[in-house]
Amino acid sequence: MNKGLLSVDEALATLLAGAVPVVTTEMVPTLEAFDRVLAASQVSTMDVPPMDNSAMDGYALRVADVPAAGARLLVAQKVMAGAVGAPLAAGTAARIFTGAPIPRGADAVVMQESCTAEGGAVVVNKVPRAEEWIRRRGSDIRAGDAILPAGKRLLPQDTGLAASVGIGMLQVRRRVRLGLFFTGDELVMPGDPLPPGRIYNSNRFTLNGLAKAYGCDVRDYGIVPDSLEATREVLRHAAGECDLVVTSGGVSVGDADFVKPAVEAEGSLLMWKIAMKPGRPLAFGRVGEAAFIGLPGNPVSSFVTFLIFVRPFLQKTQGIADVAPKSIAARADFDWTEPDSRREFLRARWNGKGGLELYPTQDSAVMTSTAWADGLVDNPAQHAVRRGDIVTFLPYSELYR
Ligand code: AMP
Ligand code: MG
Repeated sequence: MNKGLLSVDEALATLLAGAVPVVTTEMVPTLEAFDRVLAASQVSTMDVPPMDNSAMDGYALRVADVPAAGARLLVAQKVMAGAVGAPLAAGTAARIFTGAPIPRGADAVVMQESCTAEGGAVVVNKVPRAEEWIRRRGSDIRAGDAILPAGKRLLPQDTGLAASVGIGMLQVRRRVRLGLFFTGDELVMPGDPLPPGRIYNSNRFTLNGLAKAYGCDVRDYGIVPDSLEATREVLRHAAGECDLVVTSGGVSVGDADFVKPAVEAEGSLLMWKIAMKPGRPLAFGRVGEAAFIGLPGNPVSSFVTFLIFVRPFLQKTQGIADVAPKSIAARADFDWTEPDSRREFLRARWNGKGGLELYPTQDSAVMTSTAWADGLVDNPAQHAVRRGDIVTFLPYSELYR
């Protein structure tokens, strides 16, 4: 049924085999490293926490000094966060605050809610356990521990973790230079009036946003007329400046489809018809040092094929180790009784009852479906879905990671 069509997995494997990670790295301040890809694994040179400290506001004491509830101890010192106390004399307590170092000799902290302050003394109303409310030095991280692996795209908490061990600069990969251009004589930019027969270049916005979502250094070459010469010229120029060139439109075999001959003239090309919906035509090749991926012009198709193919390609090029999106097994609150002979990526969203609903039309020209949805149901070829079935869902939150 799908004769001559390549499966999504076959196409992805071939594509990824051709993705070469950028090798250039740069040092950036940890404060600016969010969303960058770590080039070298990071090892802590210190213990965290760096000293024994209190997990509570309360009193540091020796457990042996509180044999029974109601013991009364002299408060001999006060230790604030950032200060260093004196060694704790037997029979005394130290007033202590969260994060403050534990005075030498103390082996527990009693939270202030379990104590009664009485002038210069404290009555301890409960018998403490040894180690209670003490965070020991190195209990989180030990000097020499690996804390962040190479190939990780840094999240806010990763930069915080690096900072917690005193790392002020991080070695990251250079951003991928992604060139974009948009073929089609019908295209007009929003803001300009729309002459009869023309449409707005919506793909420019979708693909720019996607490129930024994956941390690319975007070079946008704008609209390219439907001519072989114009397409070749922009392609050559873009390929000279970029790691990857992605285009929309012109990859079918219509009279106005010049992407294929242009790539063949400037480099080499594989043309695929992929067994997926939306999608189908996809071009993959090389022009000089740059990789090339030609997406279909249809707005939903270019959006979905970017997510399914360009995303992992970019991530591998960016040096990211783990590029497969994590899917969720989710309940279908819909029927899909006439599945396609191709694998489908259906626009769906959570319905507030723990299930998924489909956008009423799955036509690949209906851009509204992509904005309405929370993600894509990855539905196998010829697979009918009944209400209550479990389907594979690729949430945007995961795909945009
Ligand atoms: P093509 O792949 O060039 O045959 O285009 C397929 C369909 O997508 C046609 O209806 C085009 O008008 C439309 N299309 C192509 N490029 C864009 C674009 N940049 N923005 C919106 N629609 C487009
Ligand atoms: Mg076209």
